[in-house]
Amino acid sequence: MAAIDLRRLRLRPGEARRLELDVELEPFVLGGQRYEALPATVPATVDVTLATGATVFDLALHARLVGPCMRCLGHAEVELDVGARELHDPDARPGDDLRSDYVRDGRLEVDAWARDAIALGLPDQILCRSDCAGLCPVCGESLNDADPEAHEHDTGSDPRWSKLDELKQD
Ligand SMILES: [Zn+2]
Ligand SMILES: [Zn+2]
Repeated sequence: MAAIDLRRLRLRPGEARRLELDVELEPFVLGGQRYEALPATVPATVDVTLATGATVFDLALHARLVGPCMRCLGHAEVELDVGARELHDPDARPGDDLRSDYVRDGRLEVDAWARDAIALGLPDQILCRSDCAGLCPVCGESLNDADPEAHEHDTGSDPRWSKLDELKQD
């Protein structure tokens, strides 16, 4: 597990340290679908600055997630650059903004933080392409492969045309 032992850094006020570490990303489950990080282990940079009143942590990493398109279930992937900041004052009360949820027993849990930061940075929909046509509601076939104009089903009278038929009969 990627974690930083804060006591061992021995920072003095105003001092900063840059740490590089590998973060392991478990698959994400979104809308019932599974998205794997590829690669599952990514390098992350954490800048630790001992400021007045709190320690400032800045996280930066790049991640790529691969899984099904939320519209057509075809192959989709997202790449994102994640940047996140946490503040921590060991004397602040739990629930205080100055007390990071990712610091436990004097250790910054970078895995858990990276995971949440990625989840927050993801788009609402993960698609194979922004104009994915999705699946045909009648037969379930992907409309990306088929010519949507040519893809038709004989579903009897279409209510949109019945009005036109009435006009023609007049
Ligand atoms: Zn799609
Ligand atoms: Zn169809």
